[in-house]
Amino acid sequence: MIGILALQGAFQEHADALKNLSAEYKLIRNKSDLENKFDGLILPGGESTVQRKLAKELGLLEHLRKMIKNDIPVLGTCAGLILLSQEIAGGEETAFGTLPVAVCRNAYGRQLGSFSAVGNVGNISDFPMRFIRAPYIEKILSDDVEILNVTDNKITAVKYKNQIGVSFHPELTTDLRLHQMFLNL
Ligand code: GLN
Repeated sequence: MIGILALQGAFQEHADALKNLSAEYKLIRNKSDLENKFDGLILPGGESTVQRKLAKELGLLEHLRKMIKNDIPVLGTCAGLILLSQEIAGGEETAFGTLPVAVCRNAYGRQLGSFSAVGNVGNISDFPMRFIRAPYIEKILSDDVEILNVTDNKITAVKYKNQIGVSFHPELTTDLRLHQMFLNL
């Protein structure tokens, strides 16, 4: 069973992707949802500051951080990548801080609108990537971080142990290969 953090943002699209892959999921909205036993966690795109504040207020932050530290596979997309990151440019408060990268929010090229690109993500070739006010990864803070994609000279996808973080929105396309990569973890 995969837990999808569902406080704000594009969580339903992730649920639809999992449904299409016949994977069971549960939306995480409050503490009682954490009583389930999860095999994986998805942190969706949206607004990371709002998600961080809500997760804290609802008392979810520590529990989720523990799950991630205990090696539950995680997929963080866009705002979800920001929640995972150990550092945010400008010294902004982090949420989980479990992924040893530094991200730059709302600073990616043509980010004021949105843009699409196609590229390889790890061993997935020609993956459609949709960027919406996307962050990029400006620094890698551990040798164990694997870079999965670079677009326009910016790192946009990484894997570190049980964590996958991407700047773009795989849930907004019909290509399910990245969700499958996560499920394989
Ligand atoms: N700009 C958002 C943030 O900083 C992320 C955008 C997204 O998730 N599409 O949280």
